[in-house]
Amino acid sequence: MTWKNISEQPRVAELLAGSLRHDRLAHAYLFAGPRGSGKKKIALHLAKSLFCTELAGDACGECLQCRRIDAGNHPDVHVIVPDGATLKIDQVRALQKEMMMRAVESGRKVYVLEHADRMTTQAANSLLKFLEEPPAGVTAILLTENSHAVLPTILSRCQVMVFAPLSPEVIAGRLQAEGIAPGLARTASHITTHLEQAREYCQSEWFAQLRNIVIQLVSEMKQRNSLALMTIQDLFGKNDSLKEELPLFLDLLILWLRDILYVQVGRETRLINSDQQDVLSRQALVWTRAELLHGIDLVMETRKRIERNANPQLALERLVLQIQEG
Ligand SMILES: [Zn+2]
Repeated sequence: MTWKNISEQPRVAELLAGSLRHDRLAHAYLFAGPRGSGKKKIALHLAKSLFCTELAGDACGECLQCRRIDAGNHPDVHVIVPDGATLKIDQVRALQKEMMMRAVESGRKVYVLEHADRMTTQAANSLLKFLEEPPAGVTAILLTENSHAVLPTILSRCQVMVFAPLSPEVIAGRLQAEGIAPGLARTASHITTHLEQAREYCQSEWFAQLRNIVIQLVSEMKQRNSLALMTIQDLFGKNDSLKEELPLFLDLLILWLRDILYVQVGRETRLINSDQQDVLSRQALVWTRAELLHGIDLVMETRKRIERNANPQLALERLVLQIQEG
């Protein structure tokens, strides 16, 4: 991986690569963005780019320096995570001591501070002094998912880089590159903007199962009998953790109904469940467009009702009946 092919945050990568090229790196950065948007990966790539012996201003990932940084045992690159719920002053002091010592290699040091919004006030004040008078050759990279909670005084000492949530295309591409089936990868990438979460979905058995139940349910709802209701009762009877998975189930249901709509209007290239085109085509024949649109509304309403603590099974049964009544 080089700066040019960091797919998560091409804009940030380009900015940092440019700063490295022109030797205009800031003393301190704050990478702000949601979980899974590549903050730590890019922070480590930046560190590697400063030490790599093979590439200038970039990282080969294979030389001894790069490998030691990846393995977390480079003497001049330190990653600090909160000790418990907060980052404490002792941690910041230990870090400062470490950073004041002469660099073992090449006169540079880098520290990456995760969850920079979780510092105690003392820790933040101590770090602030350090940011105000940075020792020569030290680069600070602060990471946060919640930049609003970072002290303004700290923010003002850092160059802030905003990390956007990953696009579904990037997530799906990464998952497929890891060998996950395209249909499942695409579905997961539309459910969450977190790569790790999406990977977890794809690797769990129940994610594929939930999608199968959605497919079954949508087919049964068009049969004017109580099959669909029985499927829901079954679902709740067998699965204790269903309550937590219900929002996910409803999201999958919305994506599925939307896919049937796409088939009806001939936009098959936009299908999320692209591996299920045959089933979608069959269902597209028995649903009217009005029913689908109404159905999607009802699912969204049900999702809200469950968030407000409605009984999940009753809410789902009610949803099925409402959709069946049209
Ligand atoms: Zn290297």
